[in-house]
Amino acid sequence: MADSVYRKHLFDIPDNLIYLDGNSLGPLPTAVTARVDNVMSEQWGKKLIKGWNECQWMQQPSHVGDRVAKLIGATPSSVIMGDTLSIKVFQALSAALQLNPDRRVILSDSGNFPSDLYMAQGLIDTLNSDYSLKVVAPEDVVDAIDDTVAVVMLTQVDYRTGRLHDLNTITQKTHQVGAISVWDLAHSAGALPVNLTQSQCDFAVGCTYKYLNGGPGAPAFIYTRPDLISLIAPALAGWLGHDAPFAFEPNYRPAASIDRLRVGTPPVLQMSALDAALDVWDTVDMQQLRMDSINLCELFIEQVEHRCPELTLVSPRNAAQRGSQVSFAFEQGYAVMQALIARGVIGDFRAPNIMRFGFTPLYINKVDVVAAVNILEEIMLTQVWKEPQYQVVSAVT
Ligand SMILES: *Cc1c(COP(=O)(O)O)cnc(C)c1O
Repeated sequence: MADSVYRKHLFDIPDNLIYLDGNSLGPLPTAVTARVDNVMSEQWGKKLIKGWNECQWMQQPSHVGDRVAKLIGATPSSVIMGDTLSIKVFQALSAALQLNPDRRVILSDSGNFPSDLYMAQGLIDTLNSDYSLKVVAPEDVVDAIDDTVAVVMLTQVDYRTGRLHDLNTITQKTHQVGAISVWDLAHSAGALPVNLTQSQCDFAVGCTYKYLNGGPGAPAFIYTRPDLISLIAPALAGWLGHDAPFAFEPNYRPAASIDRLRVGTPPVLQMSALDAALDVWDTVDMQQLRMDSINLCELFIEQVEHRCPELTLVSPRNAAQRGSQVSFAFEQGYAVMQALIARGVIGDFRAPNIMRFGFTPLYINKVDVVAAVNILEEIMLTQVWKEPQYQVVSAVT
């Protein structure tokens, strides 16, 4: 384990908790608390509105964007932070459609996160034109990329199954037919190596509260290939995307830089939390992270299949086709997950029957994996999940 990326001491995780849900909400990095305290009491508290200039609040979206860029193989000034991922999907997709004005088909897959598909449907409605959203099965995506397609909009790692799309190959095919690529990296950023520059992809978006541990509601990111930035006509033309926001001109003129994909006032407290959370990543080798992640996932699959034969693996068995999560199907998966959570093993559940476990080698190791499977095995053997308290469905699963 000498080269492992394990660094749990940098996180505030309650004792006796095995947290296998960092793919949904990352835990609190220790440095965040002090940073946010300081921003509140020293910056907001003492400087008030002077903070915008004296504390570089206005530069946060690009400063933090450059830090995220490093983690996804993007060059400086190609990533900007703000809003939530759903908004960034809308921005990227509308910009992509404008770059390909003669075509009308948005291609996506049924493994995409519903919000991405909803944003596409909503955008099509507002465009009031003959656009259509074509949704195919994940395994049929490559064949469906043809010269009718304007934009290929995909999430690289399927939120339910962990299935991993080949970003480089699909982007290549997309470009061969003259289409534009929009990649959602929600379950990729901080989970596996991504090289946006090498992939040549056109747009990428993602959130920062999952594997990047930026905290609930942390701002999203949007990437645009540098040569495209000046060609984008932003659909959400907010004042902070203007070339001269404080000139207060009556008409919109986009900023020359990636700043044109900013919209309104940045969430300074959240952005500060994220900035501090990113310190954890300064010395993480992404190839090592991927190796550690694969080892944890393989161990988990092997142990669960051996000891809990009632559960069915729904993630790809081949590690090269899987992100950093493992999902098992079981008809009463919701109740089993509640019983796990009650015993300090936190994963989550996705309808109709999927138990989802995220593996985050920064703070999860093999001992945790074996301990989690011990508890799961016990729950399956005793059928304790049948108890009524585990059947109550909460609003957030
Ligand atoms: C988590 C996730 C979202 C969530 O979007 P928000 O606007 O941040 O709520 C959207 N798309 C994908 C693919 C996700 O995994």
